[in-house]
Amino acid sequence: MTEVLLGELSDVGRDPAGGVTRFAWAVSELELREWFTARAAALGLDVETDGNGNLWAWWGASLPGTAFVVGSHLDSVRSGGDWDGPLGVVSAFAAVESLRAEGWMPTRPVAVVAFADEEGGRFGLACLGSRLLTGAVSSSHALALVDETGTTLAEAMTAAGHDIRRVGPDPGRLARIGSFVELHIEQGRMPLADGARGLAGAGRPVGVAREIWPHGRWRIDLAGVPDHAGTTALADRVDPVLAMAEGIVEVRRAAAELGILATVGRVRVLPGAVNAIASSASLWVDARGEDPSRVRELVAHVERRLGVAPALESWTDITRFDAVLTADVAAAIGGEVPELPSGAGHDAGVLSLAGIPTAMLFVRNPTGVSHSPEEHAEESDAEAGVAALTAVVRRMAG
Ligand SMILES: [Zn+2]
Repeated sequence: MTEVLLGELSDVGRDPAGGVTRFAWAVSELELREWFTARAAALGLDVETDGNGNLWAWWGASLPGTAFVVGSHLDSVRSGGDWDGPLGVVSAFAAVESLRAEGWMPTRPVAVVAFADEEGGRFGLACLGSRLLTGAVSSSHALALVDETGTTLAEAMTAAGHDIRRVGPDPGRLARIGSFVELHIEQGRMPLADGARGLAGAGRPVGVAREIWPHGRWRIDLAGVPDHAGTTALADRVDPVLAMAEGIVEVRRAAAELGILATVGRVRVLPGAVNAIASSASLWVDARGEDPSRVRELVAHVERRLGVAPALESWTDITRFDAVLTADVAAAIGGEVPELPSGAGHDAGVLSLAGIPTAMLFVRNPTGVSHSPEEHAEESDAEAGVAALTAVVRRMAG
């Protein structure tokens, strides 16, 4: 069933450079919103768009109690894969469809959600829909974010017909969410407790997330003395690009020593002339790992090496998913369910930080490759994910 539903989406946002590009509030993403609405209507679910652009499809909205929510997101990174996000939404609809087909009825409200702008591919801030909902980011900050063409989020939302006066924290809606389970394609081949790497290593189609690793971003600015490349003796130079290179190598060396992940994926050299010694060089460090003290230790290593204090741009502490809900999810699936950490952030993490009991299911990705056209799950594993999610809904909302 997931193959059919993902097939309905496969042409949307197809990027000539490979994969799919489905940025928030762009034409491709608006098409996905229409698909969501049509899909929900076909199942007899009531659809609403909340003030922050998140889509909700309700089954039994008037039933007593708080809602059991399943879903994920529909947007993608540039040239991303077909699975990251849509698999969770498609699987949620498939679970509802199979429960309806057998005449099962929930005893509490069930909602399928598609959170807006999870990837941050356009405006640079991930999980925007869920962060606005919970108040983790302010509406004024979010609405002023700009994409690479200079369009603000406010302008993009308005052009898509969304009333930006509705953007902001929504405590009433949050209070209606009893718990949230997000199914997602596995990303990376993360270490399991027994040392196996990923679900492929464990030989299992479906696992649950234990936690999201703490994650920090830092910027390091290095000053130089700009001068002529042809007339300045090597001994007389203050070249910040050399220091930047040392910093990059130190990030990698310290990450290996500390057993964490750290990346320099962005640098900036000014003025950027081929024949001039640079006046400044900046590098950005992304670091994550199981132990937050090791992540911070990496930054201290880099500071000692360069003699410059990295400036913290963002920090998200470890996010532990709800142990009781996760145990319920595993019990609903049955058998041995591997527990994995996540190195990537998710809307489920944002809701968890807002105090909502939250759990995640991962569907095996044989190579672990994600945010890439190579991202993939076997059809039989995707179906195992739907079966797992169906069992979870039956247990939690029955
Ligand atoms: Zn995702």
